[in-house]
Amino acid sequence: MSALSERIRPELARPTPYRWQEGIPDGPVDRFDMNTPADPPAWYASALARLAAIPPNDYPDASYLPLKRAIASYAGTETDQLVVGAGCDEVLGLCAMLALAPGARAVVGRPTYQLYAVASRNAGAELVEIEPRPGTLAIDWDAVLEAAAEARVVWLCSPNNPTGDEPGAERVDALCRACPGIVVADQAYLELGGEDLLPLIADHENLVVARTFSKGFALGAARVGYGVAQPELAGALDALRPPGSLAAWSAATAELACAEAAEMRARCTAIVHERERLADGMRRAGVGVDAAAGNFVLARTPVPDLFERLAERGLIVRTFGHEPLLADRFRVTVADRPADDRLLSALAELAGGEGPPEPTPFRGRTATRRRDTRETRVACTLALDGSGRADVRTGLGFLDHMLTALAFWSLIDIELRCAGDLWVDEHHTVEDCAIALGETLDTALGDRAGLARFGSASAPLDEALAEATVDLSGRGVAVVDLALRGTRVGEVAASLLPHFLDTLARRARIGLHVRSRGGDDHHVTEAAFKATALALRQAVALDPARQGVASTKGVL
Ligand code: PMP
Repeated sequence: MSALSERIRPELARPTPYRWQEGIPDGPVDRFDMNTPADPPAWYASALARLAAIPPNDYPDASYLPLKRAIASYAGTETDQLVVGAGCDEVLGLCAMLALAPGARAVVGRPTYQLYAVASRNAGAELVEIEPRPGTLAIDWDAVLEAAAEARVVWLCSPNNPTGDEPGAERVDALCRACPGIVVADQAYLELGGEDLLPLIADHENLVVARTFSKGFALGAARVGYGVAQPELAGALDALRPPGSLAAWSAATAELACAEAAEMRARCTAIVHERERLADGMRRAGVGVDAAAGNFVLARTPVPDLFERLAERGLIVRTFGHEPLLADRFRVTVADRPADDRLLSALAELAGGEGPPEPTPFRGRTATRRRDTRETRVACTLALDGSGRADVRTGLGFLDHMLTALAFWSLIDIELRCAGDLWVDEHHTVEDCAIALGETLDTALGDRAGLARFGSASAPLDEALAEATVDLSGRGVAVVDLALRGTRVGEVAASLLPHFLDTLARRARIGLHVRSRGGDDHHVTEAAFKATALALRQAVALDPARQGVASTKGVL
């Protein structure tokens, strides 16, 4: 026994630290092991000046009331029900400190997030780990419930990292009744889907729901988490926390994030979408997928030394050396599409399956444009000789719908992504998408030689009727007349819809006359986009009889 272990709690004398994935090679790598989003929040860069104004010489206000107010309003709680912490992990540690003591019993279903074991052991407690249901990785909730009767803490993770399991509100209710201590429900991934357990707090004085800004909110570096409980329990947890455990910058950043919840929701929707693509791609690559939840996918390792083989290729996945149940499993965090495709190609090579499907190549006259401003980031690719394929995500469902119709009826393939400041309003997104689309169209049209140049079409949609004429004149002129009655169509202000067509025409340097009438604003707008698309289709067509540009002047 070393001298140190005689002086301290012997069971803590040789702790193996809890760390994220180890063995990461030097040099640039793609990280799929951290369960954090690939990009910072869109608003973060513009918030830096405000954060920089925080004086570094003062301690933070230990009440963290402004942050608590922001969380309360975001999560729908009262401020006295909240305890904030340096990450959800600190909140979990406080729960262990509050309810556990040497010899006390904590209960957790395996396999799950490792920190519950760490926090229990740090508190000197005995951890009862419940085996999964035989032959599966599924948490055996019935056995957890049975053990809860003797537990000072029951840990549960919903949705569970890494299996995606959820106990459901009824079981959590039963656990709270059965447990003589406290039940800690870790909902770190809630923003990415799952049943919200907060409503149970009203009925249970022993339930803590722990949440974080590290996942959906994309602020892992800030280290901000919080627990929600009835005021007495929240207060008891708060009393254990060192007064300034959250840096002032972190608290301010999380406070700003609460006001940007729409931005967070848009990111979570995109992550969930990409997660399903990644999980499908992994299956196609020949990998057995166990679960896709939160921002991660759990799968079987197709070759024994998977971590090393992927690390050689600069791809870092999460393996589970500490958990024998997951010895032949790995977890990947959803990243961005190009990185995910690199991982899928490597997995396909190792597992003998198929790589990610090539996107149908754009044929013929194509152009790509990126437009990044402080307000939006737009990427647009067009193929004039396409098949009407659209892959559009602007964050505005109605705009996506209109651009999809534009692609479909013009037979121009459109790929467009926009991450815009929708938390301000939709103006910048709508306008910048129109600019990017128009400029991409202008580039794809090239010198406009050999084109039909003119197109004219009518499109009805039930009671609505639109007429559009397009002239690839090289001059951006639009006369747009949409008879809209209301102030909004979908989530887009009605005034922005003619503005979109007008901007598109000016930036594409085309002449556009469009007029649409009807009784329903959705119909009026959709008919206008369809008619414009049909007219565009004619105008961009190559005319085999035409030499040079279609102009009697010889130039456009
Ligand atoms: N809970 C779960 C289930 C997690 O997976 C993680 C991080 N991977 C955390 C909590 C940690 O959250 P925080 O960053 O807020 O400490």
